[in-house]
Amino acid sequence: MRMPDDGPPSKKFKYTLQHKNNGNHVSDKLQQERRNLPIYPARGKIINQIQRLDTAILIGETGSGKTTQIPQYLLEANVNKNAIIAVTQPRRVAAITISQRVAEEQGTELGQKVGYCVRFEDVTSENTKIKYMTDGMLLREAILDPLMKRYSIVILDEAHERTIHTDVLFGVVKQAQSRRKAKGIRPLKILVMSATMDVDHFSAYFNAAPVLYLEGRQYPVQVFYAPEPQSDYTFSSIVTLFQIHRVEPPNKDVLMFLTGQEEIESAVKTIRDITRSTEENMAPLVVCPLYAALPSHAQLKVFKPTPRGCRKVIVATNIAETSVTIQGIKFVIDSGVVKAKVFNPNSGLDLLKVVRVSKAQALQRTGRAGRESAGSCYRLYTEQEFEQFSDSTVPEIQRCNLSSVVLQLLALGISDIVNFDFMDKPSTESIIAAVHQLHNLGAVVKETSIKLTPVGRKMAAFPLEPRLGKTLLIAKEHNCLEEILTIVSLLSVDSVIVTPQSKREEALAARQKFVSSEGDHVMLLNIYKAYKAVKGNREWCMENFINQRNMRTATEVRKQLHDICVRMDFPVKSCGNDSTTIRKCLAYGFFMNAAELQKDGSEYTSLSSRKTVSIHPSSVLFRCKPAYVIYNELVKTTKCYMRDLCVVDPDWLSEAAPAYFKKKKPGT
Ligand code: ADP
Ligand code: MG
Repeated sequence: MRMPDDGPPSKKFKYTLQHKNNGNHVSDKLQQERRNLPIYPARGKIINQIQRLDTAILIGETGSGKTTQIPQYLLEANVNKNAIIAVTQPRRVAAITISQRVAEEQGTELGQKVGYCVRFEDVTSENTKIKYMTDGMLLREAILDPLMKRYSIVILDEAHERTIHTDVLFGVVKQAQSRRKAKGIRPLKILVMSATMDVDHFSAYFNAAPVLYLEGRQYPVQVFYAPEPQSDYTFSSIVTLFQIHRVEPPNKDVLMFLTGQEEIESAVKTIRDITRSTEENMAPLVVCPLYAALPSHAQLKVFKPTPRGCRKVIVATNIAETSVTIQGIKFVIDSGVVKAKVFNPNSGLDLLKVVRVSKAQALQRTGRAGRESAGSCYRLYTEQEFEQFSDSTVPEIQRCNLSSVVLQLLALGISDIVNFDFMDKPSTESIIAAVHQLHNLGAVVKETSIKLTPVGRKMAAFPLEPRLGKTLLIAKEHNCLEEILTIVSLLSVDSVIVTPQSKREEALAARQKFVSSEGDHVMLLNIYKAYKAVKGNREWCMENFINQRNMRTATEVRKQLHDICVRMDFPVKSCGNDSTTIRKCLAYGFFMNAAELQKDGSEYTSLSSRKTVSIHPSSVLFRCKPAYVIYNELVKTTKCYMRDLCVVDPDWLSEAAPAYFKKKKPGT
């Protein structure tokens, strides 16, 4: 790795975060900070323009103040005419942290004037006027209220991310706007915001909407490439971090981009271990992970000022690319990779894969080092490799399984999906594949047009992917909702099982008492029951290598799903210890994710695509090799791995979907 000759001169720390505000008192300091943002001089002009326009596009560098300030400006000038301003975010972490900050700036308690709403969490009240929410939440709301009547302004933030939900929202919001106009209902303003985007493409789609450019502050960033391709980016990132840490004065913070929770937690641990064991006299390192599933108190740590004489290092996913701004960053370490969902409509497989970032993403990452003064960015790839990155990221809608989205569009009353007003159309094959999937699950019927069945309508009521939703409906029939609710909740959060590299044997030994020869789902259920029996005791979690945080989230998710069941008059009954019934329900819901052991007993063949798949080493079934399994997801690393498996009887699979298995009969 090449290093700079010498670092930029050190600068005094200038920022403190006000964590508490008493009543309506807003600190002068916070107000001063608002006025110091690059967006502030444009305040009047922005208010005027948005006052005038139905739709506008606003572009400005990350950190200029778009997300936190614009909604406040619009509220302060009452452009919203007393109705709610919705601000969508692709990520829940961003929605939560930003609303906290804005509530502080407004001097109100979170959930009052300023609130947020994300899946499984609604912190708003009838007083809420600025509502930060995930794009997925606004889409769900639109099912009940397609005209979005409670909002007068919808801000679609981080539009360049092109998540599947944002892309669908584009069309849904546009439709709500024109329908409201036609019906003479209060107009709906649409504001599309981003740090970077293909302006012409967006403007053309939004009826030639004008583009407002914000002046940003960006200092030069020196870019260093790896002299040769790196085989292990986590390792290289850590090496680079310590190279910087050794030579640079403290209080110049580092932002490191990795791909996901497990990888980040393990890197954080390694960094802490190295700091502890080193004899060298280095400044203390404050290490903060940052990823979507992190609970909010831990997220806020990232924004806390670095103590004098220390260095903060933030190990983040691509969430730190544009959606949250962190002060004090001087150095960026870019692994050049990101975790992305990739769908192959031919095989029907939706894979979570670590892939190369696009040039646009690499540029955004680099930019994070030059927010307050000149900085440096270390790219852990060569310049030749960079040249081969694609220019921009392919919209998620063109690379993901569309079954959830198609189910939602149908629930919204949009049945002609192929002709829906998409900004970039997904391929017809992937729409057809999604409709097929929903058809196999009994959620749609194909008559003159595609229609939602009563089953499909019930599935759409749950904020879950269709297969999980279907599994809940089946569990209701089999009187085991109590158990399946638990399993579905645990599958909806990040892993509750911890296996630290350094204590692997110990962790596996502790887990032994939960292990089930019936598979991971049954083990998860055992863990949950034991956790409830000790009332979520912290020591118990530590001793048993259970992630208490994720366990709590799962409990919360379960409560919300339970509430939906109650609202829909589903009796929540238990099947006691009858794990066969539980597995049967899982087989009925996940028959499309089934695999059979190959004749030689080494690998598996997926029944839907006839592809070779393997059991993930983390599964309790890794060494068992049952004849038939269903799995929750596929992950592609060196091989195509099935994760979260359950042993099933092949007869259940053909019972679940006789037509589906006519061609691909299990056992043939
Ligand atoms: P943009 O959306 O244009 O990228 P933001 O409105 O998110 O910009 O951020 C503007 C500024 O507000 C940032 O530079 C950052 O200093 C500050 N800020 C945002 N969120 C927080 C937070 N949770 N804590 C402290 N400061 C924050
Ligand atoms: Mg922003």
